[in-house]
Amino acid sequence: KGEYEFKSVIIASGASARWLGVEGEKELQGYGVSACATCDGFFFKEKEVAVVGGGDSAMEEALFLTKFATKVYVIHRRDQFRASQIMQDRVLNHEKIEVIWNSTVEKIIGDGAVSSVVLKNTEDSSESELNLDGVFVAIGHDPNVEFLNNFVELDEKGYIKTGFTTDTSTSVPGVFAAGDVADSIYRQAITAAGTGCQAAIDSERWLDH
Ligand code: NAP
Repeated sequence: KGEYEFKSVIIASGASARWLGVEGEKELQGYGVSACATCDGFFFKEKEVAVVGGGDSAMEEALFLTKFATKVYVIHRRDQFRASQIMQDRVLNHEKIEVIWNSTVEKIIGDGAVSSVVLKNTEDSSESELNLDGVFVAIGHDPNVEFLNNFVELDEKGYIKTGFTTDTSTSVPGVFAAGDVADSIYRQAITAAGTGCQAAIDSERWLDH
C-alpha cells in the first residue's frame, strides 16, 4: 500500500490457469486435480487420467501424460479440436489416448483424491460417470496484467509485449517483464527464471546508462 518511486521496474506477475469452476475442482486441487502435467504428471504413473480442453495445451498435456499414465482421456466440449493439425494427429493416433467429444465435466468426485468425474453430453444433455485418478484442466491461461491498466503495450493474446530494445524491455523505457506474464509459449519455471535473470541484467544496465 502507498506510493513508491522507482527508476526501473521488472514486472513478473505471472499467468493464472483458467479453471472449470465445477464442484470438486477446488477441493481436489493437489489431490488429483491439476493444471500442469509437467509439474504433476509423474504422480500418475500407471493411473488413468483425463485432460480437459481442445487446444494445443490440452494436446501437449495429453501427450506428455502418456509417458506415465496407462490411459489418457481427452474431454472436449465440441466435436472438433482447436489445436494445430499436427498436435491433433499425434493425439488422435496415440494408442493410450481416447477422446471424449461433445462433453463437459460437470463435477469432480473424490474423497481425499479424485476417483471419477461426471460428464454431460452437450448434444443430448445425458450424464455419465467416468472413473479416473486425475483431471488436468488445460483450457488456457490468463496473464496477470489487469493491475497495469494498459500501462505497457500488450500483444494480441494479452501478454506483455517485450523485445523493444532488449529481450525483456517493454514499450515503456525502464520497465521490463519476465516470466509467464510475457510468455504465452514456454511457460516453464526454468524459462521464467531465465528471463528473470535477463530482466535483472537489463534493468541494471538501464540504471547505469
Ligand atoms: P486455447 O487455444 O484458447 O484453447 C483452449 C481450449 O479449452 C479450447 O479448445 C476451448 O474450447 C477449451 N475451453 C475453454 N474454456 C472452456 C471451458 N470453460 N470448459 C471446457 N473447455 C473450455 O488455449 P491453449 O490450448 O492454452 O493455447 C493457448 C495458445 O498457446 C494457443 O495459441 C496455442 O496454439 C499456443 N500453444 C501452442 C503449443 C504448441 O504449439 N506446442 C502448446 C501450447 C499452447 P473451444 O475449442 O470449444 O473454444
